[in-house]
Amino acid sequence: MNPFIAMQQAVDIVESSPHPTNKIAATLFGTGCDGQEFSISRTNHWPEAIETGLGREARVGNSSGTIHAETACILHAPCTDGASLCITDPFCPNCAKNIAEAGIKTIYIDHKGFQKDFFARRADHFETMSMQICEKAGISVYELWRKDEKLVPIYMAPDGYIPPNDSPITVDDIDTVDEATFQQVIAGATALHSRRKFSAAFVQKPDGGHACLIARAHPVIGYSMQDPQDALQVEHPEGKYSFLQEPVNRILMHMARYGYKLINNYFYCSQVPTSREQVNIVGAGIKRITVGDASKYRGHNSVDAMNLLRENEILDYS
Ligand SMILES: [Zn+2]
Repeated sequence: MNPFIAMQQAVDIVESSPHPTNKIAATLFGTGCDGQEFSISRTNHWPEAIETGLGREARVGNSSGTIHAETACILHAPCTDGASLCITDPFCPNCAKNIAEAGIKTIYIDHKGFQKDFFARRADHFETMSMQICEKAGISVYELWRKDEKLVPIYMAPDGYIPPNDSPITVDDIDTVDEATFQQVIAGATALHSRRKFSAAFVQKPDGGHACLIARAHPVIGYSMQDPQDALQVEHPEGKYSFLQEPVNRILMHMARYGYKLINNYFYCSQVPTSREQVNIVGAGIKRITVGDASKYRGHNSVDAMNLLRENEILDYS
């Protein structure tokens, strides 16, 4: 698909965004795991379970209840590895991390997105974090002019660039999918990661085989803790965003990247996921998560988010 058509599809639905002020849309397109071309368009929105259960005003811990358009496309795409993304507006650092983990290689931003007040307020984050994440991950970013069918490069990734990936997600084939095997995998990973936060999932692969995914929290793909400059930047981010990618988000994005589907809610996090992770779980249509140690969390708002989603029967915790 050409990016001008893909961008037009996003522009055509942007007004349908339920957000009262910041209406944003995106189209993700590429070749799926079955070799078929696909395109998927979404606006930023409240996942149905949150909208009906909590309403639009509710905060979920320290997170809004909305899913951004870019992340919504990723969570519902057949396979995002090597795909392209058109967005009506410049993207936030959290979406940049998801885009990098999902293996998306090209982003187009509508040129009008740079002229809005909304961007003026967020230009800093875009330049200091979102674009840096893209450079590290090897993602090319273009400003797209629909009328003139013109592309202006903001960053072009070198050909054949492969980003460093210190802590890859492990993918192990499994023969048996049952609770006993799941518990066995979790016990093994708990010992291996010596009580650090990790997430695990049983998935079905596009070829029909089953696998177990395990991920630890790690800076987003492209950042290496072996590199002193990267480590310094990761440890001292400016503002409210972080370069760390939480394990639940890593698993969700990795599933999207390779077209893996979660089996029967076999989804685990060793401690209470962050508020944003929990909103993303709901946004991915997942109904249940197993939490290893509910007395461990990064901030108390994670527990608030868990209690709220549990009490309203939006997400089941075991
Ligand atoms: Zn975003």
